[in-house]
Amino acid sequence: MSAIGVLALQGDFREHVEVLERLGVEAREVRQPRDLEGVGGLIIPGGESTTIGRLAVKYDLVEPIKEMIAEGRPVWGTCAGLIFLARDIGGYEQPLLGVLDVEVERNAFGRQVDSFEIDLEVPDLAEVSEPEETGRPFHAVFIRAPIVKAVGPKVRVLARLPDGTIVAVRQEHLLGTAFHPELTDDTRFHRYFLRMCRVSASV
Ligand code: GLN
Repeated sequence: MSAIGVLALQGDFREHVEVLERLGVEAREVRQPRDLEGVGGLIIPGGESTTIGRLAVKYDLVEPIKEMIAEGRPVWGTCAGLIFLARDIGGYEQPLLGVLDVEVERNAFGRQVDSFEIDLEVPDLAEVSEPEETGRPFHAVFIRAPIVKAVGPKVRVLARLPDGTIVAVRQEHLLGTAFHPELTDDTRFHRYFLRMCRVSASV
């Protein structure tokens, strides 16, 4: 399959590159518009969403990323990447792609619960699970994470916390996770995204 881009402006992009390489997929670090040429999909990593947004503006990447989305190429945002994809993030003034029809709250767990890990039920991962992985919860790492407070009609909820809080969503070829699959050994979310990329390449 074609190379998968990883937005490499700030944040934990190297971890995503490593997972892709472990899965035998060519990963391309994206820092300027021409890096997007020919990629089969793009991952926007976790980090600091204001910084990622400002750098994306500075390097003229906002419109080219929106164009690739309009062409149907998949994009997955993890944590800060989810924030950057969102349509609405409340009162913050920062550049957004605004393509994912969700309302997100940044740093939703506050200072007391900065980071935590929890097992999540993610039924969609069955599509990419090996027999020994079937039914296994996904161990999710949250770091100063956002939550999804509301979703538009085209958005499907993929995972919730036990209290019902939405932490993973999909809208057609857009994927958003409030947590960091690239920081665990479980590659099912990456395989799920690669499957989205293969499907979009074949239509
Ligand atoms: N708190 C960060 C933000 O609001 C996101 C944290 C992360 O990506 N791990 O941008």
